[in-house]
Amino acid sequence: MQKEPQIGFVSLGCPKNLVDSEVILSRLRAEGYQISPSYDGADLVVVNTCGFIDAAVEESLDAIGEALRENGRVIVTGCLGGDEARIRAAHPQVLAVTGAHTYDAVLEAIHAELPRPHEPFANLLPSSGVKLTPRHYAYLKISEGCNHRCSFCIIPQLRGDLVSRPLAEVMGEAQRLVEAGVRELLVVSQDTSAYGLDTKYRPDFWQGRPLTTRIRDLAAALGELPAWVRLHYVYPYPHVDDLIPLMAEGHILPYLDMPLQHANQRVLQAMKRPAAKERVLQRIQRWRAECPELVLRSTFIVGFPGETEAEFEELLAFLREAQLDRVGCFAYSPVAGATANQLPGALPDEIREQRRARFMEVQSAISAERLAAKIGSEMIVLVDEVNEKQLVARGPGDAPEIDGRVIIPGSWELDPGEFIEVRITGATAHDLKAEPVDFEE
Ligand code: SF4
Repeated sequence: MQKEPQIGFVSLGCPKNLVDSEVILSRLRAEGYQISPSYDGADLVVVNTCGFIDAAVEESLDAIGEALRENGRVIVTGCLGGDEARIRAAHPQVLAVTGAHTYDAVLEAIHAELPRPHEPFANLLPSSGVKLTPRHYAYLKISEGCNHRCSFCIIPQLRGDLVSRPLAEVMGEAQRLVEAGVRELLVVSQDTSAYGLDTKYRPDFWQGRPLTTRIRDLAAALGELPAWVRLHYVYPYPHVDDLIPLMAEGHILPYLDMPLQHANQRVLQAMKRPAAKERVLQRIQRWRAECPELVLRSTFIVGFPGETEAEFEELLAFLREAQLDRVGCFAYSPVAGATANQLPGALPDEIREQRRARFMEVQSAISAERLAAKIGSEMIVLVDEVNEKQLVARGPGDAPEIDGRVIIPGSWELDPGEFIEVRITGATAHDLKAEPVDFEE
């Protein structure tokens, strides 16, 4: 019997890129290709790249180089694929280059090199598609591209303007994932709160019910599925207020991942972000009054061109006042093609790094205090890993891979993907320690 063609796959970058990889792999499996876990066994290798910052570009170029050395037949796709000249300059021998979110183009390139098997093995494909995340959580991409033009970012150049997926299609995928065992849906996009803007909030139907293509309607419908629903990349538009009641009532997780990037008005304007620090602080207070369990995650950029010491201090003061739970911080790094590169006042590397370290010192103390305040409380956690010595789980405030964990010492008869109730007994700067409530070891 003829062996099915084997495709090796390397997926780099953010969860949004991971979703693209899952779509490509699902389509390959549906066409009868097999996925090879090693370079050796693969007939060719697809590298799904990231081009968000220069470090990611380097990582992507290195990964292409490694795949060429180890296998020799390489097709490149993903964000960096939008800059074919740069890839070809470093690696002229790649077979083909396609851009981000160009599923048909990457499949065509694979078909040209490795004809698809005659018999499609559609029955090999699980109805939920191929997922690269562990079985009990999955990323759900609701749109592609972005209508903003933040000066430090080239995603709109690489991925284009916002294109929202139809609500019924997103719900169908979510339902299939949950039926396949997924217990947590991580909603991702470039700009989750803008969902539906491009379709003028088109009316749609889900299970006979009329809904509009809006994040609130989508979140409410997702909240009816028996799974946690966690929202990422929520830009702080006013209508985000409408999501808080869904969190307070337990339909979706009381968790908002909201990239704020800075707090000083001039810097925000230079970044081309909405400048509304006071309003953000007021809204955070209001949200917390309405939903006291709310966990807020954000990301910031320090050392942006022209950022003065006073502007940076204003950001630290904002942090102290906002008391965010989880925060990521990047020292500004110029991205080839970003308009921010033309701004005057570029700061030396050591100032950018010093500011990042000072920022993290302030925030680590806040995060540690907020975690310590949870000691003695009870919460439902989702088990991620089970080993002989402990369970590794996550609470409603912990997104996988980016936030903390809840460690439950001991040996327990449980499986990943199970929910249990625990009492928090300790806290470190990032993680919580807990014991199960009413559960025998
Ligand atoms: S909101 Fe800004 S940072 Fe985010 S993808 Fe759009 S342009 Fe880039």
